[in-house]
Amino acid sequence: SNTLVLQDVSKTYGETVALAKVSLVVRPGELVVLLGPSGAGKSTIFRCITGLAKPEEGSVEVLGQSITVLPPAKLRLARRDIGLIFQQFNLIGRLSAIKNVLAGRLGYVPAWRVILRLFHTRDRQLALANLDRVGLLHQAYQRANSLSGGQQQRVAIARVLTQESRVVLADEPVSSLDPEASETVLGILRGVCHERGIAVLCSLHQVDLARRYADRIVGLRDGRIVYDGPTEGLQAET
Ligand code: ADP
Ligand code: ADP
Repeated sequence: SNTLVLQDVSKTYGETVALAKVSLVVRPGELVVLLGPSGAGKSTIFRCITGLAKPEEGSVEVLGQSITVLPPAKLRLARRDIGLIFQQFNLIGRLSAIKNVLAGRLGYVPAWRVILRLFHTRDRQLALANLDRVGLLHQAYQRANSLSGGQQQRVAIARVLTQESRVVLADEPVSSLDPEASETVLGILRGVCHERGIAVLCSLHQVDLARRYADRIVGLRDGRIVYDGPTEGLQAET
C-alpha cells in the first residue's frame, strides 16, 4: 500500500505557480529524494502534505487519509503521524537530547516540562534505544545545543523514531551540515527507513547525495516534476 500519495497537486501564490499538477507516491520502507534547486517547490510540497498550505487542485493522502478535506481537528491528529525533520533541527536547545527525543512521543503539549518528568521507564528505554540507533547513547543527557549540527540532526531522527511515525518528511535535512556529517545523517536516515518500513520523503539540492542515498529520485523544477525514477536514470534530465 502507498503511505503518501499526491495526485495532480497545484498551488499558486498570487502570480507564482509554486506547484503545477504534481503527482508522486512514497511507499513504506522507501526513501524518495525530492531533488531540485531553490524555488522549485520542495517546501510547498511539504506544506501541502502537513496541511499548512491548501492546494487549489489535486489531492494529498497520508496513511489513507485525505489531508486536503480534513476538518481542522482531524488534521491536527493526522499531523501527529507525520514525523518532521528540518534544516535547522528544531530541537529545544536547553533540554537534554533524551528529553527532545521523548517530546516526540507526546507531540507538543503546553505542560511538557512537568509531564516529561513523569515518563515511564518504558518510554525512557525506547528513547535511549533510538538514541543508540543513531549513535548518540553517550550524549543522551547532554543539552541539545551543546551537540554538533550532525549530532543534533541525529537527535531529530531519534525523535521521529520515538514518535513511531510511519511517514517522515525531511526538508533539506543536511543543508546546514558539513559533507561528512551530511553523509552520516543520510546514511542513518536511509538505514532506519529500510529497517522500520517508514515512508521517507527527503528534499535535497545536491545531485550527488541524492544519487547515493535515494531509493528513487523525484526531480522538481519550477513546480513541475521533470523526473521520477531510479537513481541511475537521472543523468540526462539534470
Ligand atoms: P523550494 O523549497 O524548492 O526552495 P518553495 O516551495 O519554497 O521552493 O517555493 C516555490 C515557489 O513558490 C517559489 O517561486 C517561491 O518564491 C514561491 N513561494 C513559496 N511560498 C510562498 C509564499 N508564502 N508567498 C509567495 N510565494 C511563495
Ligand atoms: P532537568 O534538566 O530537567 O533538570 P535532567 O534532564 O537532568 O533534568 O534529568 C531528567 C531525568 O533524567 C531525571 O529523572 C534524572 O534522574 C534522569 N537522568 C539525568 N541524567 C541521567 C543520567 N546520566 N543517566 C540516567 N538518568 C539520568
